[in-house]
Amino acid sequence: MPEIYIVPIATPPEYWLAPLEQSIRKCYGLPVRRMLHCSIDIEQTYDHGRHQYNSSQILLQLIRCAPPGTAKILGVAAVDLFIPVLTYVFGEAQLGGIGAIVSLHRLNSCLYGLPEDEQLLCERLNKEAIHELGHTFGLLHCAVPGCALNASTYVEDIDQKSDRICPGCRGRITGDASA
Ligand SMILES: [Zn+2]
Ligand SMILES: [Zn+2]
Repeated sequence: MPEIYIVPIATPPEYWLAPLEQSIRKCYGLPVRRMLHCSIDIEQTYDHGRHQYNSSQILLQLIRCAPPGTAKILGVAAVDLFIPVLTYVFGEAQLGGIGAIVSLHRLNSCLYGLPEDEQLLCERLNKEAIHELGHTFGLLHCAVPGCALNASTYVEDIDQKSDRICPGCRGRITGDASA
């Protein structure tokens, strides 16, 4: 059975990994595995003017790490990501492809002057991971309240949605998800 790989990028696997695996397995019904050794050179993707990392370039490197038969590969980065037309992104995905990436950086309460909150960070990460993986399953943004495919511009937007996809989105999934 094809698998979904999770690849920590520029971060050690931490407390967020197990809840993330569980959330993805539950939503998409595919086996989830960790890939802890993947040769991604994020320094190549650093933009010295913006002091951020180019999300699309990391995504390309990530896709090259996918073993044959991979269903999806999801990178979890700890650095601040951008695409040229936007100030920052929480993540990026190939629509209908195999690769997706999310960043922990802007999901952390510390960035907003609030105390560290591991549970909140896990929840936000799960939602953004389900969101970006949804794009790889061919899903577009969805306006149904609470659906993980709601677009999020600010971190507060993420807190308004869930780590589940609505029945409409589930019906539009293309590819290998069995759930
Ligand atoms: Zn999106
Ligand atoms: Zn939806």
